[in-house]
Amino acid sequence: RTVYVNGEYLPENEATVSIFDRGFLMADGVYEVTSVLDGKLVDFDGHARRLSRSLNELEMGNPLSREELLEVHRELVRLNGIEEGLIYLQVTRGSDGDRDFAFPDPVTTTPTIVLFTQNKPGLADNPAAREGARIISIEDIRWHRRDIKTVQLLYPSMGKMMAKKADCDDAWMVEDGFVTEGTSNNAYIVKGNRIITRALSNDILHGITRTAVLRFAREVQMEIEERNFTIEEAQDADEAFTTSASAFVMPVVEIDGVTLGEGVPGPVARRLREIYIEEMRKAAV
Ligand code: PLP
Repeated sequence: RTVYVNGEYLPENEATVSIFDRGFLMADGVYEVTSVLDGKLVDFDGHARRLSRSLNELEMGNPLSREELLEVHRELVRLNGIEEGLIYLQVTRGSDGDRDFAFPDPVTTTPTIVLFTQNKPGLADNPAAREGARIISIEDIRWHRRDIKTVQLLYPSMGKMMAKKADCDDAWMVEDGFVTEGTSNNAYIVKGNRIITRALSNDILHGITRTAVLRFAREVQMEIEERNFTIEEAQDADEAFTTSASAFVMPVVEIDGVTLGEGVPGPVARRLREIYIEEMRKAAV
């Protein structure tokens, strides 16, 4: 695989980053995951905009312009022959060659930027989406700036492991009795023609897929209610699903051992998945 690190395209085993990098020492960095369909980038501008916002919130500069970033994404897709898959991008604060809690001088410290591709044929025609996901709930003990897409992913990783141990696919996190989001996705329930999902705030990541899916849902006259919901309400819903750049719309068929409806992906989630993939293919760049 050819990867990108700080301006260079290199074989993955020749790419290096300093051991003093604050991304490595302190999880002081942000990331984006953009999907690739038909060799093209899905919602590139949404991801580029959120990257700028995350960097801004952490007082980090953006090492690349939108055009430069687009060029690097496209070049990696080309060099690695990706038709369907993901591009991972990470920007960390870099280092001044030592370890200190205070941020190093931004004038003399350059951020580290790394991109690599993940080849994933079957991203669109995903067998897991035909089955639907089985979910457990766990307490949300993350920090309170979940709107910033930082690389502090230890707790979400542990959540995935808890789900695996319970022979499930993923975990939804719950805070003060209400679902915040999934370990790596936004969470929704469906009642009749109504889609219910938590409103945007610092409590959840502002999903790029969420924005697009809610727009498509409105276009086909579905109703959207942005409010908190509990696990009990979700277990009693007609359907549930999650959204993310890497799994698009993923139906949920079971929550904490309770089967939703018939235990198969529901019509709303299936329809939104179809519309999302079709429309995003058309708009990919
Ligand atoms: N919420 C969390 C915690 C995530 O990690 C992600 C994606 O990684 C999402 C939501 C979905 O965001 P997006 O649709 O931009 O991929």
